[in-house]
Amino acid sequence: MLYKDYCEIIEKIEKTTKRLEKTDYFVELIKKLDEEKEKSRLSNSPSNSAEILAILCKLSIGRVFAEYENKELGIGYNLLVEAFKSVGISEKDMYAKIKETGDLGHSVELLKSEIKQVTLFQTKLTVEEVYNSLKKLSAIEGASSQKKKIRTISNLLISANALETRYLARLILEDMRIGMNISTILSAFSIYFEIPKPDLEKTYAVTNDIGKIGERLLSYDGNYYENFKKDKELHLNLFRPIKPMLAQLTPSINDAIIEMGVPQFETKYDGARVQIHKDGEDVKIYSRRLEDITNSIPEIVDEVKKIDCNQLIVEGECVAIDENGKPRPFQDILRRFRRKYDIEKMTSEIKLRVFLFDVIYMNGESISDSLHLRREKLEKILNKKNNFDIDENGQVIVPQTDDVINLSTKLVTDDAKKAQKFFDWCLSIGHEGVMIKNQDALYTAGSRVKTMYKFKPTLDNLDVVVTRAIFGRGKRKDWYGSYEIAVRGNGVNEINEIGGIRGIEEIGELGESSSSLSSFAASDLENSNLYVIGHVGSGLTEENLEELTRKVNEIKEADLDGEVIVEPKIVFEVSYEEIQASEKYEIGYALRFPRVINIRYDKGIDDINTVEDVKRIYAIQKNRKNK
Ligand code: AMP
Repeated sequence: MLYKDYCEIIEKIEKTTKRLEKTDYFVELIKKLDEEKEKSRLSNSPSNSAEILAILCKLSIGRVFAEYENKELGIGYNLLVEAFKSVGISEKDMYAKIKETGDLGHSVELLKSEIKQVTLFQTKLTVEEVYNSLKKLSAIEGASSQKKKIRTISNLLISANALETRYLARLILEDMRIGMNISTILSAFSIYFEIPKPDLEKTYAVTNDIGKIGERLLSYDGNYYENFKKDKELHLNLFRPIKPMLAQLTPSINDAIIEMGVPQFETKYDGARVQIHKDGEDVKIYSRRLEDITNSIPEIVDEVKKIDCNQLIVEGECVAIDENGKPRPFQDILRRFRRKYDIEKMTSEIKLRVFLFDVIYMNGESISDSLHLRREKLEKILNKKNNFDIDENGQVIVPQTDDVINLSTKLVTDDAKKAQKFFDWCLSIGHEGVMIKNQDALYTAGSRVKTMYKFKPTLDNLDVVVTRAIFGRGKRKDWYGSYEIAVRGNGVNEINEIGGIRGIEEIGELGESSSSLSSFAASDLENSNLYVIGHVGSGLTEENLEELTRKVNEIKEADLDGEVIVEPKIVFEVSYEEIQASEKYEIGYALRFPRVINIRYDKGIDDINTVEDVKRIYAIQKNRKNK
């Protein structure tokens, strides 16, 4: 397929803010590929339509690699600017156009059509060529790699027309800004292949690979639903990490009991989530963001190998502990997870323990089992129960173990007083609070569900994403000293209600108003419109600022006076004195005295708090004030 044909369709997708129209255009794309497939069939020649659909699904959400691979192209804004310079576009003109349009893609598109000598070299680009070049880019390493990368990019640029240049620039930065997301692509699949969307969503959560789903669907000879249901390649696979099930906040233990009947309470450990895959002696461990962290935690790998079960996927919380078995600060776990060298030294310095709380696969899929059954399975393979109880004298009974691989402590009850005691006990031993789970619930991968709640004593810290960085002054003059932070919108329709993806007009105004709404092209299953909720600078050490400044320069999308817009990739956990109702930001709330507690390298945009969470915390806070 010609890259030009693809760009023409995605331009239409970019132009409309209506979700249904975006879906229809994607259906048009699938239809085009299916027709090409049919033509090949009639002429008895092989068809690569299915592979092309896989590529186009990924490109449309601004990715080169499958989502589960957790790999990025990693080409920064500065390198791209260098590549444009190498094909004759001056840096000065580029910056002037970016100021005018607010978007790198549009800027280079406009400039491209002005440079006549470049267009002379044009040959027609195909989708495969573009994709293969991007893959090649990611593999370039070693001496003079910058030069080689610039050459690879400029080879593409000299063959591209103006529209193609717009999308090449954005693709290379892996930020398409056309408002496509996984959910819209799944809707398009649902329409074209006549498969119920919930079925596709479930498959997506376990495969974490939108391209693969598209490829498989287009490879069937009709009978799509039947073929889809029995397609083994779209089932849960060992060593292909799945999106975790996420919890919601509950206002109180009582509310959760009323809603769930007899819930399972568990200690909410203050650590980092891990997903462990085991096939015989082969073990891989993934972080919450599905990064492979196996090599950084060898002592856990050794213990997992000893578990008496051949094929297994389990989830748990990894906690760093001190010599008394008490939890150490969260940052210590990240120091372990991010470690690439001196791992042995680190292993003896910071001791880890894993508390398993779920099983996804045990010699076969477990995601359709109830939590009750899943817990039973987990207890069986670990040969322990870890039940919390209280004897007749009011003494707490909990089994103590020093095992590296442990089981979360649980209490199944509808007695709010007993649950409160459990909660108090969890806090007394240094943990965050409790998880409250519906025993009948299945494992719904990738969703924030109402069948699993978290309850903590304090107002929850918020996980927010950085949308802009502002140059510091005085002591902070060498760094970005303050950061605009945002939470996520709630639902897919919001994009339409609010008026589309982050676009030219909006960014054009940002110089004057840094409090204006930023809404971004969604790139995950749930929608990810972003709502600014404050600015934060406190809580960051010089070391943090140094590191953040480096990171910001890698992911900046546009330079404005005194501040930069960044891709929404850096997650802060912030505390605050309270959430105030405020007109300052579009969301209607602002954080009072926010402070960075942690830079959450283990979290991404899918994991941050939502507008709904902010509203809920605001209501809880009001309730507490009135008491
Ligand atoms: P939060 O990160 O605040 O959304 O809280 C949910 C997270 O708590 C999960 O993603 C887990 O990483 C963590 N967690 C700690 N203990 C448990 C537990 N017993 N069950 C489930 N999740 C837990």
